[in-house]
Amino acid sequence: MTDLPLDFGDSADLEHLRKEFRTWLAGHPLPERGADEPIPVHLRRWHRMLHSGGWVGLDVLREYGGRGLTALHQVAVSDELGARGAPGVPRIGYLAHALLEFGGEEQRRNLLPRMLSGDDVWCQGFSEPGAGSDLAGMTTYAQRQPSGHYTVNGQKLWTSYAQYSEYCLLLARTDRTAPAHASISAFVLPLSRAGVTVRPLRAANGDDEFCELFLDNVHLEQSERIGAEGDGWALAMTTVSYERNALDTGHLSKYGLLIERLRRRAHAHRESLPDGLLSQIGRCVVDYHVLVAHARRRTAERLAGKAAGPESSIDKLLMTRAEQRLYETALKVFPEELYADGGEVLSDYFYSRAASVYGGTSQIQRNIIAKRLLRLPADHRA
Ligand SMILES: Cc1cc2nc3c(=O)[nH]c(=O)nc-3n(C[C@H](O)[C@H](O)[C@H](O)COP(=O)(O)OP(=O)(O)OC[C@H]3O[C@@H](n4cnc5c(N)ncnc54)[C@H](O)[C@@H]3O)c2cc1C
Repeated sequence: MTDLPLDFGDSADLEHLRKEFRTWLAGHPLPERGADEPIPVHLRRWHRMLHSGGWVGLDVLREYGGRGLTALHQVAVSDELGARGAPGVPRIGYLAHALLEFGGEEQRRNLLPRMLSGDDVWCQGFSEPGAGSDLAGMTTYAQRQPSGHYTVNGQKLWTSYAQYSEYCLLLARTDRTAPAHASISAFVLPLSRAGVTVRPLRAANGDDEFCELFLDNVHLEQSERIGAEGDGWALAMTTVSYERNALDTGHLSKYGLLIERLRRRAHAHRESLPDGLLSQIGRCVVDYHVLVAHARRRTAERLAGKAAGPESSIDKLLMTRAEQRLYETALKVFPEELYADGGEVLSDYFYSRAASVYGGTSQIQRNIIAKRLLRLPADHRA
């Protein structure tokens, strides 16, 4: 656990909330996953349980289905969940914030309560076959008709768990002539709408996380656009900035648990650890503490009202480094996990390889840091 209250005001209030949540958790453990139950279905049951206890959307206003508290209260809940090895609330944080910041009043009132309660699950339709890193190069096109509605055609790719979702937060181009960043708009896409085909893709390890989404003359009302035409790029950047903060995602306390296990094993087997492994564990501890300090700083900035910006690329790089080194090290410290059927460290190790890709690749984060934070010239040889 990250002991956040030490660094922020209002600590008595937060400590009270944490205690209340721990008591609730003790009486409401994560339900068993059924033998053939897909992960998103299991997580939706968990999500609904959390919501029934009042533990979802703490920082969302009451009129939109939340509890009207602060970002720090939400972070404390994610932290407690991670510290118990329990999954967080899937994808809610960042999609809810996109709707909060860019959605109209009616959209917030109609869509957010059902998103927070888990009655509607949302997926994220950003990437396309030819536009992942280069998101601005997307070609899915929402053409505004004289009567005002849109007709959408195109294809999305890597849409996580679309087959288990009711809605998609869709990005599409609404202008073929304006500069790329000003021509992308965001839409609420009901996946049951005529012309939408969701095709799951089976990954090499058997998982069915990814989907392709085909959009064939899909009719969207103007009222289904989120924000103004051209707001899609800013909305996407807000969304990914939440996706990149290890405190928002609950990753931080999950890493903390594993670090503690590594430390205990290293102390017990100090003499027999292979050469170099002790210092590798030390690097994991340092990565972790750097990430904790950084995530606290980012959270403090958000509480002070600072808008999300390119700094989230630093968050993402630090989180990726910490996660990948941690699981690589964990497999060396717990080699028995390599042979354990369904071993958690092994499956987390595999998933950690994707950390340098999802939410924007590490190379792209470095490009953003170079251009937008360090203001380096595009070609330093010039
Ligand atoms: C687990 C997982 C879940 C995902 N879930 C979703 C989802 O729900 N919704 C969604 O929309 N997307 C999702 N994605 C897609 C993800 O956002 C993209 O994979 C990512 O943005 C990279 O795009 P790409 O795969 O097209 O790779 P590409 O853009 O083709 O990049 C290929 C390689 O080239 C490098 N590269 C590209 N351009 C540059 C450059 N200018 N400078 C230096 N290097 C460069 C990249 O870093 C990468 O190594 C998910 C991905 C993963 C792994």
